[in-house]
Amino acid sequence: MKQSLSVVMPVYNEGAIIRAGVLRTHQVLEQAGIPHDFVLVDDGSCDDTWPQLTALADDLPVVRAVRLSRNFGKEGAMVAGLDRAQGDAAVLMDCDMQHPPEALPEMVRLWRNGAQVVEGKKRTRGRESLLHRWAANGFYGLLRRSSGINLRDASDFRLLDRSAIEAWKRMPERQTFFRAMSSWVGFERAQVAFDVADRAGGTSRFSLAKLLGLALHAIVSFSAAPLQLVTLAGGVLLTLFVLLGAQTLYMKAVGRAVAGFTTVILLQLIIGGILLVGLGIIGVYIAKIYEEVKGRPRYLVRADTADKEEAGDDRVR
Ligand code: UDP
Ligand code: MG
Repeated sequence: MKQSLSVVMPVYNEGAIIRAGVLRTHQVLEQAGIPHDFVLVDDGSCDDTWPQLTALADDLPVVRAVRLSRNFGKEGAMVAGLDRAQGDAAVLMDCDMQHPPEALPEMVRLWRNGAQVVEGKKRTRGRESLLHRWAANGFYGLLRRSSGINLRDASDFRLLDRSAIEAWKRMPERQTFFRAMSSWVGFERAQVAFDVADRAGGTSRFSLAKLLGLALHAIVSFSAAPLQLVTLAGGVLLTLFVLLGAQTLYMKAVGRAVAGFTTVILLQLIIGGILLVGLGIIGVYIAKIYEEVKGRPRYLVRADTADKEEAGDDRVR
């Protein structure tokens, strides 16, 4: 019987707001009569997040807190949480309440009616800077055109049935992109629209550099189109060579060979440029392959409240 729900939250420097967020979510689920538990993953915070999490775990028996050994990034924290989720389904949520817990009962209803993946779809994108919106649009457009996966209104706010979680766990890549991977697995899907709320407190934990890195990673992981672009450029250049070559030979034959230095210089520049860009793109993919073959763990755990002794140790030390 599809019953219990695990709520997985990545938590990074959210000491000021995490307690209120978890309590509010807990209350919503209690009122809806949904059996649930929490897996809170401290992603190497440097504020008082971990003491807050252990206090929550002490106060609420349904809370399990896990502490990673350093900041692995939201993806790593989500994987750590999903690996530990025990429920018949798990829902991924930001802990800053931008993913409204009020949407959970509806997601659970759809799940119990047979959906195996329930996606939270952004109805509005909430408050964000013009630059951020512009960059996000550009990124999603690029990803859709290059990989066919449309994530424009997608978010990490997703409920996964046990079968989808197990399928997702079988994807062996070290560097994950949860949003796209949980679309890739397929299964019976449903959607719930939600409005992105304002952040409960503080500012986004993502810097522009972090976001750009994630965007590049997503495209390289889900599409080989940039590599094909190199081939395409090669094809175009080859056609040009043939045409220019024929013209040159013809000029030579009729004795009208001109001192075409401009053409030579332009050609040199174009070819040199395209070769370097091509090498760069190939380099990005090789770097990805290198990361993957190293096969390093996606995250490392430092403490876990389900492991009472170990967590206790860490607290007295
Ligand atoms: N987060 C994390 N590790 C990081 C950055 C963020 O676990 O390195 C968590 C953060 O605590 C929050 C969620 O990921 O629960 C989303 O982060 P944030 O709200 O800062 O991102 P935004 O809403 O701006 O996309
Ligand atoms: Mg947020």
